[in-house]
Amino acid sequence: MKLTVLGSTAGAPSRSNPASGYLIEHGDVSIWMDAGTGTFMELAERVDPGTLDAVVISHTHADHCSDLFGLYGYLAFGPSGDVPVKVFVPRGSAEHLEAFARATDEHIFNMVLDIEEVSPSDSVTVGDVEIRFGEAIHPVPALVTRVEADGVSLVYSGDTGPGGDLIEMATGVDVLLCEASINGIRDERTYPYHLTAIEAGEAAAWGGVDRLILTHIGALMEPQQSLDEAAGAFPGSVAYAAQGTVFEIEGRE
Ligand SMILES: [Zn+2]
Ligand SMILES: [Zn+2]
Repeated sequence: MKLTVLGSTAGAPSRSNPASGYLIEHGDVSIWMDAGTGTFMELAERVDPGTLDAVVISHTHADHCSDLFGLYGYLAFGPSGDVPVKVFVPRGSAEHLEAFARATDEHIFNMVLDIEEVSPSDSVTVGDVEIRFGEAIHPVPALVTRVEADGVSLVYSGDTGPGGDLIEMATGVDVLLCEASINGIRDERTYPYHLTAIEAGEAAAWGGVDRLILTHIGALMEPQQSLDEAAGAFPGSVAYAAQGTVFEIEGRE
């Protein structure tokens, strides 16, 4: 399984790093996981967006979903592709996305995109890739996503605070791609709907994962500080999801 970082900035995209978006490829299956601001162009440089097998949106904050409308334009108004493309979104999110496109049932938005709402504990298959969803702790419905195929597994936290299904879902996986939006030690004033880098490291340690990849780090933050903080809590391999990086994920021996 191959994970390509299309973008990994929290909130606002920067010129050198779009917001959250990842391309997962396994065999002939390609999945766009989060469509954050600026990631559609990065996706289109690597695959023909018209050949995507599925899109997974962790939640409908703009830094995770705004470029879905780039794919919509591509499919609806040319160059087009193999439609409809399946899009998995958290419960309650389809109406929200349709409202932005002013889409009714017969609208072209719903002809080129097949939006399916999923809930924590749901699982779906895309080709021979199994995707399972869990609850993330965030102000809007949000998902933790577990992707598995041929014994290789990855969990993506999406945006989440402490709690929810992250650690249960990450248990034993090869890679935990985890948000680390906050530096330092949590206290009572710390925002409850994102993780600190230390908490990302703890999740990796408690889950017994093989590798931790930190993402959703703000443009004004220093990734090395986040790596150092996470490494204090997790003795395994810790990497930063730098824009453009390709991670080859292999099962454990
Ligand atoms: Zn975010
Ligand atoms: Zn968010």
